[in-house]
Amino acid sequence: MRTWALILTGLYVHIVLFYSIFDIYFTSPLVHGMTPHVSNESPPAKRLILFVADGLRADKFFEVDDDGKSRAPYLRSVIDNKGAWGVSHTRVPTESRPGHVALIAGFYEDVSAVAKGWKENPVEFDSVFNESRYTWSWGSPDILPMFAKGASGDHVLTDQYPPELEDFADSNSSKLDTWVFDRVKALLKTGKSDRKLMEQLNKDKIVFFFHLLGIDTNGHSHKPQSREYLENIKLVDSGIKEMTELIEQYYDNDGRTAYLMTADHGMTNWGSHGAGHPHETLTPLVAWGAGVRKPVTGKERVDQDSYSEDWNLRHLKRSDVQQADIAPLMACLIGIPYPVNSVGILPIDYLDADDHQKFLSLYANAKQILSQYQIKMEQRKQTTLSMTFRPYSELTPVLQAEMIRHINKLTQAGNYPTAVI
Ligand SMILES: [Zn+2]
Repeated sequence: MRTWALILTGLYVHIVLFYSIFDIYFTSPLVHGMTPHVSNESPPAKRLILFVADGLRADKFFEVDDDGKSRAPYLRSVIDNKGAWGVSHTRVPTESRPGHVALIAGFYEDVSAVAKGWKENPVEFDSVFNESRYTWSWGSPDILPMFAKGASGDHVLTDQYPPELEDFADSNSSKLDTWVFDRVKALLKTGKSDRKLMEQLNKDKIVFFFHLLGIDTNGHSHKPQSREYLENIKLVDSGIKEMTELIEQYYDNDGRTAYLMTADHGMTNWGSHGAGHPHETLTPLVAWGAGVRKPVTGKERVDQDSYSEDWNLRHLKRSDVQQADIAPLMACLIGIPYPVNSVGILPIDYLDADDHQKFLSLYANAKQILSQYQIKMEQRKQTTLSMTFRPYSELTPVLQAEMIRHINKLTQAGNYPTAVI
């Protein structure tokens, strides 16, 4: 009898411990109920074009071949003459879903997503697409629906290929990318005659999202050193060139389009991803167009580490970001509210704006992050016994108010650079 009691007690303890692990680690840290903060009241861009080359690692994109030539000549000319570039540092797990969530929603996916299924939305979250007036997205059925499903209303539109097209054994997967480019061409063509579509395409605060899966698929089947992977980079580069020209033409070169090219994660030499090797976590970022700064050369450039030594880019300033910082950057360029769950910090180094505007956008960003903290603290307070509740000592409500007073004082004196720090 006693043995049974012991076994049952042991089992009970195990169940409680097991449950608590799931409860602690697999409960979403996301909070809801925050007030949105507009990133930029006078945005430089009316529209944002986001290209995500799935599985493209930074070195294979930036490095030059034996003849000193780039694999991505169009984007190299953008880096040289038009825009800003750097390495976007991703986090583990280096998988497509968490990578896209960091880029587009601005937070690092919680582990509860893994426990509750990869493709579904286990928790509701806000995103740049949700905050936009309209988003058109093209690409894989594994990626697009998660942003459309969580969005309020039906302003996030998806055009995805059938799953059969994603055939890993296929000899060359770059046709996944060609499919996307062709569909965009078709949409812009319809947008010249269809009144309703034309009206929508001419609104501000809109996003085009190109999800390009060819490079990732070719990397899995043939490895990143393969001809297929490297040729696919070339194809994506020339596709981006063609798309940019087409979009500029559609909008009569109005100078109100911002462009961004990056990746969700990289890939190891043996064609895998998921872990934390630099080949998996370091991805490229190139930005250009409305609101993005021009290349910075000469003395002002920061010293680059040995990682970018072979890229022939030493003369140009390299501006690295954390992957989640890309979400507030996109929001700020088209002037939509920062996604409410975002923890990304606006990379002001990418902006072509004066100190006053940089300050205003960064200040809104700080208030947006702080409002999550305040809601979280309220929730804690309500679920903890009042005697045992202690606010985080580095950021008590008194300290928060003091910091805001200090920032206001600096800005009244016109001292924006110090206020930004
Ligand atoms: Zn993959």
